[in-house]
Amino acid sequence: MPGFFERSIEYLKGVGPQRAELLKKELQIFTFADLIEHYPFRYEDRTRFYQIREINENLSSAQIIGRFISFQTVGTGRKQRLVGIFADETGTIELVWFQGVKWVQSKLTIGQEYVVFGKPARFGQKYSIAHPEVELLTAGNKQGAYLQPVYNTTEKLKTRFVDSKAIMKMMKMLFVEAVNHINETLPPNIIERYKLMDKKNALIQIHFPRNPKALQHARARLKFEELFYIQLRLIKLKITRIDSFPGLKFNNSELLNHYYENFLPFKLTNAQKRVVKEIYLDFRSGRQMNRLVQGDVGSGKTMVAFLCMLIAISNGYQCAFMAPTEILADQHFKGLYEHAQELGIGIARLSGSSKKSERKVIAQGLDSGEIKILVGTHALIEDSVQFSKLGLAIIDEQHRFGVAQRASLWNKNQGTYPHVLVMTATPIPRTLAMTLYGDLDISTIDELPSGRKPIKTYHMRDSHRLKMFDFIDKEVQKGRQVYIVYPLIEESAKLDYKDLMDGYESIARRFPDYPLSIVHGKMKAEDKDWEMARFVQGETKIMVATTVIEVGVNVPNASIMVIENAERFGLSQLHQLRGRVGRGAEQSHCILMTGNKLTNEAKARVKTMVDTTDGFKIAEMDLKLRGPGDLMGTQQSGLMDLKISDLGQDGETLKLARAVATEVLNEDPSLVLPKNQLVKRQIDAQSKSTVNWSRVS
Ligand code: ADP
Ligand code: MG
Repeated sequence: MPGFFERSIEYLKGVGPQRAELLKKELQIFTFADLIEHYPFRYEDRTRFYQIREINENLSSAQIIGRFISFQTVGTGRKQRLVGIFADETGTIELVWFQGVKWVQSKLTIGQEYVVFGKPARFGQKYSIAHPEVELLTAGNKQGAYLQPVYNTTEKLKTRFVDSKAIMKMMKMLFVEAVNHINETLPPNIIERYKLMDKKNALIQIHFPRNPKALQHARARLKFEELFYIQLRLIKLKITRIDSFPGLKFNNSELLNHYYENFLPFKLTNAQKRVVKEIYLDFRSGRQMNRLVQGDVGSGKTMVAFLCMLIAISNGYQCAFMAPTEILADQHFKGLYEHAQELGIGIARLSGSSKKSERKVIAQGLDSGEIKILVGTHALIEDSVQFSKLGLAIIDEQHRFGVAQRASLWNKNQGTYPHVLVMTATPIPRTLAMTLYGDLDISTIDELPSGRKPIKTYHMRDSHRLKMFDFIDKEVQKGRQVYIVYPLIEESAKLDYKDLMDGYESIARRFPDYPLSIVHGKMKAEDKDWEMARFVQGETKIMVATTVIEVGVNVPNASIMVIENAERFGLSQLHQLRGRVGRGAEQSHCILMTGNKLTNEAKARVKTMVDTTDGFKIAEMDLKLRGPGDLMGTQQSGLMDLKISDLGQDGETLKLARAVATEVLNEDPSLVLPKNQLVKRQIDAQSKSTVNWSRVS
C-alpha cells in the first residue's frame, strides 16, 4: 500500500475522479504530496474590516461585515445580472454578479450576517463590488487578523468551480489526516543550527498562516529545504562524475605553443589567459571536464575555444564545435578556417543543409582522422556523425541548446567521454549559475580586449525618428555601417514582418543612395548568406533585420545599432543585440526606439540599458524583472521546477543552502553517517521521481 502522500488525489474526500482528472491535467497535481506542495502564490490581507463609508476605489480589496437588504435581477438574457444591496451601519454598497445568477441568489439570505471581500469600483456616486466572495459570518472569520492563501488555478479549472477557494477547501480536508503523516525532512542538527521551523509546522503555516511572522518562518524553512536538496544533488553528481568518469589526459600543448608564438593576431587579455590555463589544468587532471565559460559579448571566447582545440589536437584528438544557428556556424567556420589553414589543420563544416555528397566526404575525413575540427549546427549531434577520436566538444551560446542535445554529444565516443566546454555570452547571475550549473565548473572572462570604447546608448521616442535618421546619415558618411533591428515575436509574426517591410521602405526612401541589406527568418539560407556577406564586406551600409543577427555575428565596422520597438525585447536580448556593435576602434552607438507609452517594466529595461553596459548587472536585473523562467530554456532541464524559491530574490538562502550542502558532503561524501541517513533517504526518493541528472551535461 502506498504511503499517505503517494495516494492519488482522487481519493481525497470531495475530489473524485472527474476533478482529479482536471487537477492532473491543469496543475500536475497527481498525489496528496503534489497538493500539499501546491503552495499559495500570495496571501490576501484579511487582517482588517472596512466600514462601508470608508470604501473607495483606490483600495485593492476590502473586507466588510453586513447584511443584504434586497436582491434585484437586472437586464435579460446574456446581459442579465444580479444586484444585491449590502448594508452596514454606515451605508450601502452594491454587490454584482454577472454569472451564476440563480445559483448565487439561492445561496444568499436577506437579513443574515455575511463577510464580503472583493475589489471596490466606483460608478458615479455609487460603489460596487463585482463577484465578491461572500461567507457567512462565523466566530472564525469575525476575528479577522488572518492571511488568506491564494492558490494558482487555471481558467479551465475556474469554469469547473475549482477556484482558489475550492483548493483551500481541499487543503483543509487534506490536513485533517495529513498532520499525522508529515515527517521531518531535514536533519535535527541543521534545523537547530539555522533555527528553522519544523516541517509539519511549516506546511501548516504556509497554507494557513497564523500571522505574518509565522508565515515568514515557514517560507524561509521551505525555501531552504528546496534549495538545499537541489544543491546537495548537484554537488553529489559532480563528486560521482569525478569518481566515475575518467577523462582523457592531454599533456601535450605543442600546437598551442607554436600558434601562440607565430600566429596569434593579438595579445590575449589576462582573463583569456587565465581561462585557457584553467582548462588546461582540467585537461591534465585525468578527470573529464565539464566547464562553462561565460564572458560578455566581445570578450573573445572564440579564441579561447580555438586555443583549447589546439591542445586536444596536439594530443591526437578531434574537436566538435557546435553553434546554435547556421549564420553563426558559418562565421565561426570562416574564422577558424583561417587559423587552421596557417597550421595545416583539417577543418570541415556540417549543417542541416549540407548535401549528401558533402556529408560523405566529411564522414570519411572524420573516420580517417584527417578532419580535426568539425564546425556546425545541431546537425553535429545526429547519430550518423561519428568521430574516430572525439576529445573535446565545444558548445557555443549554450542557452540555445536543450539539455538533451547537450547530453547526446557525450555519446559520440564509445567508452570515454570527451571533455565538454560550454560557452555562453548570456552572463548568468551567480545565483542562477549555481542552481543551473552547480555541477559544472565555471570560468569567467571578465575583461574586454583593450582599446574598446564603451558603447553609448540612447533612448528615443518614435516621434524623434527624423533625428535618428539624421544621425545615421552622418555616421554612414563617416564610413560606418548600421544595423536596424525589428522584433519578431512568433505570435504576431505577420504583423512583425509588415513592420519590418514598412521600415525597410521608409529607410530606402530616406537613404536612396545607400545600398541596403535585409535579412529575416523567412528568407532562404542562401539569400540570407548573400545579404550578410555583402554587409560584412562593407558593400551595403545599412542592415535591416529581425533578430536573426542576434548572437555572435561580427562586423567590426558596424558601429550603430538601432533597435526598433525596443520595449518589446527582453533585457538580455537587448544586450545581445547591442553587443553586435562596439567591436571596432570607432565609438559605437546604440539607439533604443520606443513608442511614447511604456509600462513600468519596459521603462526599467530601457533605463538599465542606457545606464550600463555590464552584462552581469543586466543579467541580474533581467532575473529580477522577469524571473528565471525562460531565461535560457531552463524549464526542460527539470532543475528549475522550483515550488517556492525565487532565484531572483532568494540568492542569500541559496548561498547558505549551498554552503551547508557542501559541508555535509565534504564530511560525508557518500552519506553513510547515521546523522545523514535522513538526507540520503530524501535524495534517493527525489531522484526516483525526476529526470536522470547524470545525463544533464
Ligand atoms: P565573443 O566572446 O562574443 O564570442 P569573439 O570571440 O567573437 O567574442 O571576439 C570578438 C572580437 O574580438 C573578434 O573580432 C576577435 O578576433 C577579437 N578579439 C578576441 N580576443 C582579442 C584580444 N585579446 N585582443 C583583441 N581582439 C580580440
Ligand atoms: Mg561568440
